[in-house]
Amino acid sequence: MDPVLEIKGLDVDYGVGDEAVRAVRDVHLTLHRGEVLGLAGESGSGKSTLAYGLTRLLAPPGVIRGGQVIYHPADGEPYDVLRLTDKQLRDFRWAETSIVFQGAMNSLNPVHKVVTQLVDVIKAHEPRTSRASRVARARDLLKLVGISADRLEAYPHQLSGGMRQRVMIAMALALEPRVVIMDEPTTALDVVMQRQILGQLVELRERLGFSVLFITHDLSLLVEFSDRIAIMYGGRIVEQAPASALYRDALHPYSFGLLNSFPALRGPRRELAGIPGSPPDTRGMPAGCAFHPRCPKAFEPCDSKVPELGLPGGDPSREVACFLHPVATP
Ligand code: SF4
Ligand code: MG
Repeated sequence: MDPVLEIKGLDVDYGVGDEAVRAVRDVHLTLHRGEVLGLAGESGSGKSTLAYGLTRLLAPPGVIRGGQVIYHPADGEPYDVLRLTDKQLRDFRWAETSIVFQGAMNSLNPVHKVVTQLVDVIKAHEPRTSRASRVARARDLLKLVGISADRLEAYPHQLSGGMRQRVMIAMALALEPRVVIMDEPTTALDVVMQRQILGQLVELRERLGFSVLFITHDLSLLVEFSDRIAIMYGGRIVEQAPASALYRDALHPYSFGLLNSFPALRGPRRELAGIPGSPPDTRGMPAGCAFHPRCPKAFEPCDSKVPELGLPGGDPSREVACFLHPVATP
């Protein structure tokens, strides 16, 4: 499969100098064309910081300290998103890569009708299109996400949470981007609605051929809807594998604990049953494997050495960073 976005050695800090804490550490992650890649981890693991970093939407005091984000356009040479000028970046967002934020359903402008907000996105990037054609596109976009055209004239407060979420997804798809990033887009919605919206997104992906980076702490959703899953802990990727392989046979004890925290696709969420304690604070990251204070399998090297991410048993489809699994580094 061809890569569309390659994150290489990304480091992100909050703050500078003595105050700086590293929130994302040496992350390598590739999103392939047409793929749904899930990114999971407890809150504070660095998932959102990674998404904001790679789209350069990081708010201060967040700073990118190193790495590359290589984007492969449909035609032309790959380029590093981290080196785009502000003007290039504006063109890149929405048109090449769009992002639906955490709590995005509340980020619609309350004083503008749905149609205006959709039309504005199209107009900003395609100023030469006629108003009539933009409205027609807005109508098609709503239809695409399962909202009837009569809602075009609605104001956000006249829509349910689920509908507002769909409008945000319609906006994200307005310019037919090749990559759509969703950061916990569904946490504010009930479980049934979450699954519906995700299912719809995956179906659209099949029709429109974009790639999705889907970020959530709810691993059961990812198991159901993604092709591949990456697990983050303490700012690092600790495991990645095809979704089915991870579900069957999670190698990292943290992945295993996460899987067991969400036993049912429906029904109430449980606390992390298999994992006592809470995620580490970026200001006081444990030495060695950051997970060792909580790990039921910790042994001799774990509190002093950092396990490297590599290929377990030379299996090229998955990676893990844990001393239980000797790896070949890629
Ligand atoms: Fe547990 Fe050690 Fe593996 Fe870390 S390296 S997950 S502490 S066994
Ligand atoms: Mg987050």
